[in-house]
Amino acid sequence: MNADTTGPHVVVAGGGIAGLAAAHRLAVAGHRVTLLEAGTRLGGKLLAGEIAGAPVDLGAESLLARRPEAVALARAVGLGDRLQAPATTTASVWSRGELVPMPKGHVMGVPGDAHAVDGLLSAEGVRRIGLDGDLPPTEIGEDIAIGAYVAARMGHEVVDRLVEPLLGGVYAGDAYRISMKAAVPALFEAARVHPTLTAAVRAVQRAGAAAAPADVAGAATGLGGSVFLGVEGGVGTLPRAVAEAIRAAGGEILTDAPVTGLRRTGATGWQVVSRDRVLTADAVVLATPAGPAAALLTEHAPAASAELGSIAYASMALVTLAFRRSDMPVLAGSGFLVPPVDGHTIKASTFSSQKWRWVADGASDLFVLRTSVGRHGEEDQVHREDADLVDASLKDLAAATGLAGRPVATTVTRWIGGLPQYPVGHLARVARVREAVAALPGLRVAGAAYDGVGIPACIASAHRAADEIIATSKRTDPGAGHSL
Ligand SMILES: Cc1cc2nc3c(=O)[nH]c(=O)nc-3n(C[C@H](O)[C@H](O)[C@H](O)COP(=O)(O)OP(=O)(O)OC[C@H]3O[C@@H](n4cnc5c(N)ncnc54)[C@H](O)[C@@H]3O)c2cc1C
Repeated sequence: MNADTTGPHVVVAGGGIAGLAAAHRLAVAGHRVTLLEAGTRLGGKLLAGEIAGAPVDLGAESLLARRPEAVALARAVGLGDRLQAPATTTASVWSRGELVPMPKGHVMGVPGDAHAVDGLLSAEGVRRIGLDGDLPPTEIGEDIAIGAYVAARMGHEVVDRLVEPLLGGVYAGDAYRISMKAAVPALFEAARVHPTLTAAVRAVQRAGAAAAPADVAGAATGLGGSVFLGVEGGVGTLPRAVAEAIRAAGGEILTDAPVTGLRRTGATGWQVVSRDRVLTADAVVLATPAGPAAALLTEHAPAASAELGSIAYASMALVTLAFRRSDMPVLAGSGFLVPPVDGHTIKASTFSSQKWRWVADGASDLFVLRTSVGRHGEEDQVHREDADLVDASLKDLAAATGLAGRPVATTVTRWIGGLPQYPVGHLARVARVREAVAALPGLRVAGAAYDGVGIPACIASAHRAADEIIATSKRTDPGAGHSL
């Protein structure tokens, strides 16, 4: 293994999309790479599965295509032909007992015009948004909770009915705690320079319009300039394709191989311990969630370890349900979001058979949909019995859509520690962690705990880690990495 590669040896800990992307980048650059994954399968939060014999994603299901990284990786590992735009992109909000079409003309739920949210908010809520123009500027500082800032400018209703459910879909977190700088960086920057939030939203919208469609990775390929893309067979098929590309480039991948210890050897080297195995490495990428990375860094970077150890994670459960098509009412769009303020169990539902052609084609007599349950601080919900979660989902689905049929198959997938939370100050914390880790030779971190939880952001952090290692090895050994 690794026999035909001559560069430095890099060990990557973690076989989620970040670890795989880092290993891929390094292997293609001619480095000897060994990826160690603790579990028995690769992919982390990407998981292709099946229901009633039909393929379906049981974890992450879509790739943001406005950023290039995920789509480029899929193409690089031979999945370019399998990228698929959603069949429908319209969605609803289940608010005050009604499915209301998702308003257009907002940035993460913050409207550029109060009337954009007319159908969703009360008359009072819409009027309150308009007050934004009359208020003196709100102090935003180095960072601020998005919910607090938007509520101060435009009132709580727009936060509770739109910002919160949208953010909940990404972070499973609480809008009143999530960092605006980390979660909506363009809006944060605009809000610093514009006197009102409305003006800031409009500036972001203008910049977005000017950037699209060239920035939309799907635009050039007949994928309709879609903002999100799926993969035929599931986004969960991406890890295996990346793993095959790593092996084809000479890299080695071991599963059931948790990294349990890190030791310095000499001035620059590392020993990576995985149970009774000890690997010698010139560089190491820690692409695990924050907890395991913290444990591995305790001795070498105690302050960074403590900061990583304090990153909280939200757990969630996905309930995937297959119905006979004949039992289905007419459903609109790709699904709906649920404002927590209404007190329902589910926080969203995706009509998978309606959103993805490949799901519909894989089970033409069935209709597959999924619900998600659990936000940060709602661990009890996630640990309810499977049958309980199915029943609660069916109750909410019936109330929202009129769906009365029983499913022919159900699958509950729990994602314990699924999504890191980005509270106010998160990016400053990440900068401190990176600085401390970079002071250790050849050590880098990557993954969802750092610069964004979405798949493209995870891949970007992996590429950053890999590129820094490649650059360092070129400086210390001009012969290394020659295949770049
Ligand atoms: C249910 C759900 C749905 C999501 N949907 C989307 C979506 O549609 N689109 C999107 O862009 N993002 C989505 N996300 C977010 C995104 O999927 C994740 O943030 C991303 O996949 C995380 O990748 P990662 O490699 O950083 O971490 P992980 O996927 O957590 O991978 C880390 C890996 O490290 C391994 N590991 C842990 N400790 C050790 C150790 N000591 N040694 C070796 N290995 C170790 C773990 O077993 C795991 O395989 C979703 C997340 C969840 C939970």
